[in-house]
Amino acid sequence: MKSFFALSLAFCTLFCGKTSARTVFSNDESKRVYACGRTDGQSIALTFDDGPHSEYTAQILDILAEYGVKATFFVIGENAERHPELIRRMKEEGHAVGNHTYRHQISCNKSEQDVLSELERTRDLLRELGVEDPLFRPPGGAYDDHLLSCARALDYNVILWTVDPRDWCHPPAEQITKGVLDAVKSGDIVLMHDYVWGESHTPEALRQIIPALLKEGYSFKRVDELIRLEG
Ligand SMILES: [Zn+2]
Repeated sequence: MKSFFALSLAFCTLFCGKTSARTVFSNDESKRVYACGRTDGQSIALTFDDGPHSEYTAQILDILAEYGVKATFFVIGENAERHPELIRRMKEEGHAVGNHTYRHQISCNKSEQDVLSELERTRDLLRELGVEDPLFRPPGGAYDDHLLSCARALDYNVILWTVDPRDWCHPPAEQITKGVLDAVKSGDIVLMHDYVWGESHTPEALRQIIPALLKEGYSFKRVDELIRLEG
């Protein structure tokens, strides 16, 4: 996990100073790359990356259950192995669970065998837990044609995002909340994290974000529903 820690720090240094939570990714449906869903309904998708975490994932699941909100978790294989009970709980409670590689290593410029093994290892352990959702999010949102062909070979849709409040930088809950509420619009995929190194304010922010968006008339969908995948 040391490399993951270093990577997180690097991203923090690069991106924490940004003020807008909107991200410039866009859909390329011919390559099965999705950054947002359909905008013809007032729906968005909340996504949580890098878990499961022994403490924060359960807190987030509790809050989602309290409001009857379905979400999508992009899990790291190493963490899923440590907390299979949380993966089972995600599925039992109606959430989608996507592949976020086994070790959370950026996959660009890696050999095809390395990329496939990262994806297959997590796919196989999720399958053992009853998860077959065709959703993959590359670490950091970094991808190239080589990575896309590996994802396609395993029948994955590549899921990016359009709103990133940078909760992994440990901002106060109010800042995370403001980042989401100021930026969000119909069809957005919101990136948050259920695994953060050190203290996380994401659960606290979620307690503000969900009721505020419900009040504005938004509904919450899993990513596969928001992009209307068949099956
Ligand atoms: Zn991640």
